[in-house]
Amino acid sequence: MQAIKNYFQSLLLWELLKGLQLTGRHLFKRKITVQYPEEKTPQSPRFRGLHALRRYANGEERCIACKLCEAVCPAVAITIESEQRDDGSRRTTLYDIDLTKCIFCGLCEESCPVDAIVETRIFEYHGEKRGDLLMTKQRLLEVGDRAERQIAEDRAEDAVYR
Ligand code: SF4
Ligand code: SF4
Repeated sequence: MQAIKNYFQSLLLWELLKGLQLTGRHLFKRKITVQYPEEKTPQSPRFRGLHALRRYANGEERCIACKLCEAVCPAVAITIESEQRDDGSRRTTLYDIDLTKCIFCGLCEESCPVDAIVETRIFEYHGEKRGDLLMTKQRLLEVGDRAERQIAEDRAEDAVYR
């Protein structure tokens, strides 16, 4: 019985008609496709994109080399070396994030006691050669300097919902 039904359905192009019916239902609906990269979809202030290291307003690095982010990183993507300064404070001498290992879980950001390592909204980046996706301390600080305004705004907005 099923075989006969299938035979007639294929003869009448039943599946094709069902497909056309679906197309017809959406033909005059509002289009939701965006023309990337000219158009972009909205982003959450909690979007987890490219990492950055932040500074205080006086230009001092926030990071105190406590290594909590390195310890918590499930992908073992963070490498930190540090030393003590003459004034007794501790700062990193090396802070690398290997983006080829990173899974963008945000745990480094969550664990940081001084809000130094953050994930920005930046998602348009790529690497073309070996090492391009290794974020060194210098590169992380540069991203932080460029994105600080947006980062600070997102922090303020996020605080409203906590
Ligand atoms: S986002 Fe997650 S995986 Fe990536 S560096 Fe931070 S803790 Fe590691
Ligand atoms: S980024 Fe934050 S958690 Fe990581 S070492 Fe620096 S102060 Fe500690």
